[in-house]
Amino acid sequence: MLDHLQQHFANLGNEFARPVKAAPLKEGQLRHVNWRLAEALGMSAILEDQTALQQLASGHGQGLAMKYSGHQFGVFNPQLGDGRGLLLGEWKDSRGELWDWHLKGAGRTPFSRFGDGRAVWRSSVREHIIGESLNALGIASSRSLCLLSSNEEVMRETPEYAASIIRIAKTHIRFGSFEEFFYQRKYQQLRELADYCIERYLPHNSPGDYQSLLDMAVINTADMIAAWQVYGFNHGVMNTDNMSIIGETFDFGPYAFLDDYEPEFICNHSDTHGRYRFSQQPSIGLWNLNALAHALSILLDQDQLKSSLMNYQKQLANTYQSGLNRRLGIQGLNEDDVALSQRWLSLLAAHNLDYNLSFRALADVLRGIGWQDSFTVLADSEDGKIWLCDYHTRIENQSPEQTAAQMDDCNPLYLPRSHHLQQVIEASMQGDDLPLERLFDCVSSPFAKQQNDYGFDLAPASDEKGICLSCSS
Ligand code: AMP
Ligand code: MG
Repeated sequence: MLDHLQQHFANLGNEFARPVKAAPLKEGQLRHVNWRLAEALGMSAILEDQTALQQLASGHGQGLAMKYSGHQFGVFNPQLGDGRGLLLGEWKDSRGELWDWHLKGAGRTPFSRFGDGRAVWRSSVREHIIGESLNALGIASSRSLCLLSSNEEVMRETPEYAASIIRIAKTHIRFGSFEEFFYQRKYQQLRELADYCIERYLPHNSPGDYQSLLDMAVINTADMIAAWQVYGFNHGVMNTDNMSIIGETFDFGPYAFLDDYEPEFICNHSDTHGRYRFSQQPSIGLWNLNALAHALSILLDQDQLKSSLMNYQKQLANTYQSGLNRRLGIQGLNEDDVALSQRWLSLLAAHNLDYNLSFRALADVLRGIGWQDSFTVLADSEDGKIWLCDYHTRIENQSPEQTAAQMDDCNPLYLPRSHHLQQVIEASMQGDDLPLERLFDCVSSPFAKQQNDYGFDLAPASDEKGICLSCSS
């Protein structure tokens, strides 16, 4: 199977990554293949050889452990790098675009430090599913091609089973990849890495156009984080080694979608000070971009760095507001829309209402169906009535039916919420993969009601809310 991949990053040489033979997992079993992704990238034919895929995902092969460092929870850690994953190579699709294949859970590497080089089943299931969900919502993200379980026990807080995924992404180059060379004073390599990125991700730009590289990182990161905020996605571990240079969501840990609209929600149990809580994501994005800009200060002067970073806030605010307007069915963008949408969010927060389902409920009001049960408080409360009146005024020139239909087309019924993932993981550990397959399918087409959906369109009951996960994965 590796024969089908090209080796572009490998050509950069030993300063950038170490060749490593993967360590095979015991009794690796392919549990799910992402045929939709395989189809989209023209990989289906090679995946027909399921034995070869199973062998590769089990760790019979070799790849590259990439070097990087990064700021973790605000503190620089010079010793990171791929400790449990290997870049297998790049797949060229029919349009000539390259896609990295990365085996996560491949065994120990020179960068494993005290780790065992493995990924556990529950985290692999979560990563396998979230890439599809974000992609279906139009949020740039890595995706997972296949999910494999094994019989190899690994120790976390309790004993668990090791697993693997093959991650597909446009890049595995992180902000931390540049920090690595900056702090090691390896400026020649820093420049080579930047040149590699320009050639691969900005093919129409001239070599040496480092300003455009930083501009791209700034704009794409702003768009990505704005989209997270629009859909209530909390990444949870926004360390600079988990930030892709092209602004794709990646390296998932204890992520969560908001259930109730709770801006101060912290999905990561290890994040004791809430550095990466939902409301902080936009400002952490800028903090991380500053860390990247600092590493690029070898290639660009202060004015150039500043001029790129200056674009962040405006881009994020614009993308965020257009996203919220789309979800609310508001056409165009008026000055007062910020206040109107913020008042909506305040209402949701004040009445502990489900964030994502609230937009579906609002569309039903436009259809004349009225408020669904859990949202009737909006019809009964004074602030709810005033808001609705202002909202109707804002959209008075739009057709209510058409507006409601457009809202349903961008407001998901299905998201991999923490309680759904828990249910799916528990069933799969008992050998029942049907819920996993159904959740995967539901989040891949999240806007229309599906048959036999195991109640994946439901918000959590009160005792299922607020699951906080640990970082250990
Ligand atoms: P992550 O939390 O997955 O972003 O990982 C942070 C760093 O720890 C990266 O350098 C990983 O390669 C490394 N790491 C995480 N888990 C393990 C593990 N089980 N074995 C070896 N290295 C790991
Ligand atoms: Mg990471």
